[in-house]
Amino acid sequence: MNNAVFRFAVPRNEETLSYAPGSVERIEIKAELDRQSSQKVEIPAIIGGREVRTGRLGKVVMPHDHGHVLANYHKSGQQEVAMAIESALKAKAEWSKFSWVDRASVMLKAAELISKKYRHIVNAATMLGQSKNAYQAEIDAACESADFLRFGAYAASYIYEWQPSSGGDCVNRVEYRPLEGFVFVVSPFNFTATALNLVASVVLMGNAVVWKPATTSLLSNYYLMKVFREAGVPDGVINFLPGKGSEISEVVLKHPNFAGLHFTGSTDTFTGLWGKIGQNLASYRNYPRIVGETGGKDFVLAHPSADVEELVTALVRGAFEYQGQKCSAASRAYVPQSLWGRVRELLVEWTEGLSMGDVRDFGNFVNAVIDESSFDKIMGYIERAKSSADAEILAGGFGDKSKGYFVRPTVIEVKDPHFVTMEEEIFGPVLSVYVYEDSAYEDVLRLCDETSPYALTGAVFAKDRDAIAKAYDTLRYAAGNFYINDKPTGAVVGQQPFGGARASGTNDKAGTHFNLMRWVSPRTIKENLLPPSHWSYPFLQSD
Ligand code: NAD
Repeated sequence: MNNAVFRFAVPRNEETLSYAPGSVERIEIKAELDRQSSQKVEIPAIIGGREVRTGRLGKVVMPHDHGHVLANYHKSGQQEVAMAIESALKAKAEWSKFSWVDRASVMLKAAELISKKYRHIVNAATMLGQSKNAYQAEIDAACESADFLRFGAYAASYIYEWQPSSGGDCVNRVEYRPLEGFVFVVSPFNFTATALNLVASVVLMGNAVVWKPATTSLLSNYYLMKVFREAGVPDGVINFLPGKGSEISEVVLKHPNFAGLHFTGSTDTFTGLWGKIGQNLASYRNYPRIVGETGGKDFVLAHPSADVEELVTALVRGAFEYQGQKCSAASRAYVPQSLWGRVRELLVEWTEGLSMGDVRDFGNFVNAVIDESSFDKIMGYIERAKSSADAEILAGGFGDKSKGYFVRPTVIEVKDPHFVTMEEEIFGPVLSVYVYEDSAYEDVLRLCDETSPYALTGAVFAKDRDAIAKAYDTLRYAAGNFYINDKPTGAVVGQQPFGGARASGTNDKAGTHFNLMRWVSPRTIKENLLPPSHWSYPFLQSD
């Protein structure tokens, strides 16, 4: 047994490849896209290392070509969930005894696999299955995944190295126990790296998980499962259960050994799960840890001193990259009257110029939204804007779901700052803009703070330092990730720890030691070197 005290150094972020014409990565990813497009994968449940085929099948399709089936998956039911819990509890007993450096080394091997051998595989699966262009897949599936794994090992060092002080007469230690029981991981469709990290952070700290991936991201998530296994995660530590969330959680959340929920997804789903946990609380052995990163209604607020080109670049990229399906996507903007003429002109011109289509055509900036229900929901908001006197569509405003779920990037100017598209999460390529009188800057800061229940990301654009300071103060609780002169998307692991509060989640900052702390239950051990040998204290003696 190696007994050295070890600390991982600060890693470097994974380099982002450009996919420019003529680059090696462009040639290689195109070949992988062809390969994955021409096959149909069968995705089983994976329980205790065993592939389980239930025969109850569902389909994974390309959102930009929904007639094209990429995979068939086997839906898990109550029996598979019970098996997965049992196998997690069994595997955890051994995994939790590995030294944390060994567990971290497994995760670092997974990072290397993603960075090299699996790079094009996970990127192509994310492109085809989740409709991301090459660049969006690269920054997510390859780079952010590798970063989460490497920064996880570094962040774990922080936790394990902290120890209490010991006086002369005793030795004090803190042991970082994994949670007692198993952890339930529920992941969203929109980021492959988020799914990976929801699992990896919990497992790194010595826990075993029951993982319910989102159906629409099953293809990339299935490859992540292969990466974990090849990296050396023992059988049963990660149990992969495709299927219907409500059916799976029904069984999981009733189990007495349910020890924690690591969730990313919509606010409604998280609130529902928390409610169920509350109902079952008395039956658990431990109070479960509940960590959830949820929705957003992220803002860009411009001061009259803002630079117009910088502002509009942030709006276009922030609102429309990955079709606005980022929890951090810019979806409401506040623009001063004095800038509006030039901002409007450029915003409409650039938005109308965005190319849209299949991910395999690298000329497309925008691809399809994830599925039909998402398409219908987004179009519903656009229709409401069209029929309201409080809103005017300036760009886009239409969609077509005949071949793929395509929604044109849409800009809405609202007269009422509380119009529905300024308040609710749409999760699509829709940006609403409210134009304010220049003299009302401070009122607009308060308006922005009070408009939506969410508090995930937000940005202020200004050259005037006093205006930045005022925004910084008034919007203190309006965003967990606050940007000055930058778009509100694109947080980098290790640089901008991510997460928000209010209706946006528990703000445990994915990829940091704050998050990892939630997956351990410290035990304090005091050893008395010279125990007292009589009960009486000196003060009790008479003068
Ligand atoms: P979703 O809530 O529809 O689904 C998330 C996951 O929950 C999926 O795996 C789904 O199958 C599962 N699920 C649904 N109902 C369930 C139930 N009753 N029991 C158990 N599991 C259930 O969200 P989505 O559409 O996959 O993702 C989009 C949402 O995620 C947006 O609201 C977005 O803002 C949010 N998101 C937040 C962050 C963040 O860091 N704050 C990051 C990514 C996505």
